[in-house]
Parts: sequence; C-alpha cells; structure tokens
Amino acid sequence: MGQKRDYYEVLGVGREAGANELKSAYRKLALRYHPDKNPGDKEAEDKFKEAAEAYEVLRDPNKRQIYDQFGHEGLEGTGFSGFGGFEDIFSSFGSIFEDFFGFGGGRRRSRVQRGADLRYDLQLDFMDAAFGTETQIDIRKNQPCPECQGNRCEPGTQPETCRHCGGAGQVSRSQGFFTVRTACPSCHGQGQTIPHPCPRCRGAGAVVAEKKVTIKVPAGVDHGSRLRLAGEGEAGPMGGPPGDLYVFIHVEAHEFFRREDNDVICQIPISFVQAILGDTIKVPTLQGEKELKIPKGTQYGDLFRFRGEGIPSLRNGNRGDQIIQVTIKTPTSLSKRQEELLAEFSSLEERKISRKLKNLLKGAASKAAL
Ligand SMILES: [Zn+2]
Ligand SMILES: [Zn+2]
Repeated sequence: MGQKRDYYEVLGVGREAGANELKSAYRKLALRYHPDKNPGDKEAEDKFKEAAEAYEVLRDPNKRQIYDQFGHEGLEGTGFSGFGGFEDIFSSFGSIFEDFFGFGGGRRRSRVQRGADLRYDLQLDFMDAAFGTETQIDIRKNQPCPECQGNRCEPGTQPETCRHCGGAGQVSRSQGFFTVRTACPSCHGQGQTIPHPCPRCRGAGAVVAEKKVTIKVPAGVDHGSRLRLAGEGEAGPMGGPPGDLYVFIHVEAHEFFRREDNDVICQIPISFVQAILGDTIKVPTLQGEKELKIPKGTQYGDLFRFRGEGIPSLRNGNRGDQIIQVTIKTPTSLSKRQEELLAEFSSLEERKISRKLKNLLKGAASKAAL
C-alpha cells in the first residue's frame, strides 16, 4: 500500500467532527464498500478497510489525540497497525454492522459454530415428578479438550493468521469473466492456522468423554415436559460455544393416582351400607392419609374434593386438588341373617315402590279417560 491518506479525508469529515458524525460517515462508506455488495472488487475492499481503520482511530479519543498531534507515524508507536482482514473489522464493529444491515456482522462472524444440542430421556417416578427431585446422569459427548481448553493449540503455542488469505477466511479466484469468492482452502474459512496442534485432541479442540450431569427436576413436571440445560450439549467444533442438553420427561403411571393437569384423581370403593348410611373413611393422599366424610345417600360415581392436595403447578407452585370418586361394592357372599334382613328391607322398599307405581298408573288412566 502506498502513502496513507488522512483519516479525516478518508471519512470525509472535518477535524472537529463529533462521535455521531464520525459514526454516520463511516456507516455510509461501510455500506457502499461492504464486501457482500462488492464481491471480488479489490478497490472496494481496500476502501472498506481504509474506512474501518480511520474510524477505529478517530472514535477512540486517545488514538485520535495521538493522530492529531503526530499523524500516522505517532500511531505506529502504540502498536496499532490497522486491520489484518475483514474478520478483524467484523469483530471490532460487529454491532455497527448489525445496525447497518440488520444481521450480525455479515456471515463471516458465524464461522464460529455452536455445538450440537443433545437429547436425554428421563424416566421419573410419579411422586418424583409431583414433588421434584435431583438426579445424576452420565452422558457421552464432545467436551472441550482438557489439554488445550478447546483452543486447539499445543499448550504454549498460538494460532497464526492464515498466510494464504491474510486472515479473511476467503479468497478471490478469477474464472473467465467472473471473480468467485470461496472459503480459503488453506484454513477452511477459519482465517487462522494451527501450526502446532494439541496432541491430545489432534487440533479438534474437543474430545469425546463421559460427563456426569446433575438434573434438577422441578416439582410439577409432567409426561412430555422438557427441561433445558444450557451449555450441557456438545462442545462447539473449533472451540465454538457448546450446545444445550434437552431432557425429555417420562412419568410412570401410579397404581392408585391418576393425574389430570395439576389435579390427582383416585377411586375409592365403599360398601353399599356406607353409601346409604354415610360414614367417615380414610383416604390416601400424595402425602399421608386424610379423613373423608361420606354423606348419607351417596351415589355410585359421586365426586369429593380435597382442595390443595394435588400436584404443584410448574408455574407458580400452587397445588391442584385431589378428586375422589366413590364406587360402591356389591357384596357377593352374605350370611343367612344378612339375607333375611335384606329381604325384609326389600319388602318395605317394594311396598313403597308399588304405592308410587299405583299413583302413577292412576294418573295415566285418568288422563286417558279425558
Ligand atoms: Zn486439545
Ligand atoms: Zn486462509
């Protein structure tokens, strides 16, 4: 590159320009010369880099002061040497590019890949689902290499900027009339090369190993609930961030209770005498027994409710109800005496019924006579 242009001239602003003016001037230039809009245009590329460099200096009050006093030479002493490639520009001004284009810094920023999400199916006891539990599982997954902490280099060595593409991760190639930009074949679009790969993971940054993961199951999960354990998925390739672990809940059926939302439902058999005369019985709940008053004349299938004895809501912890459905057992073996008493009871019943029947028939007959 020849003689460097004056930074204020590059951005087309006066020497007194404020932060907003600098930003909007840079924004205009970056839009015009953005590599996505000017694929393969070397001149646009240079303009794009030049504007980024100027903006990088002038937006920083320290660097700007040095530049104002000593010019380009002054900055050389600070270690500032412009940008190596697009990647540096996108990583420095990523947020600005989001403003500009409505997407993050152009596609090059996404070269860091997130690890895959994992799924684990967890079988739970009915009570553990109702009241929560903590359990440990072993999962085999890609994890950051313990030797290099995922940075892929042999400890004590560093990655190098790719010489082939200068760190851009892309190269331009002429094909007849066209210029095609493709991922750099030397660094596979990474912009960096690893001269001394970590011997443990062979430069992959990750190794497959078993890991113990503690799953905290909140009270109230149900069949089909899904828990997300952020960052417990596979390690990202090339040192990228890890994916998530999704735990799918399966709840085993209970021999006595059935669940409907946050209510638990159960059936209690009582004798026909209890149904007729009423009684107080003991009913199992999720936590111990509770007394239930059976009123006189209870019918088969009648429902009773214990408020707040159900399952805690996942959202607010409020418990549902326990709903008790009464069934009536018909006795199958009676003593002689019991049969006699029932026969006597029945004759009384019959008389009552026949009186009712007679009245009904009478009414029907008088209607028919009209
Ligand atoms: Zn390693
Ligand atoms: Zn390269």
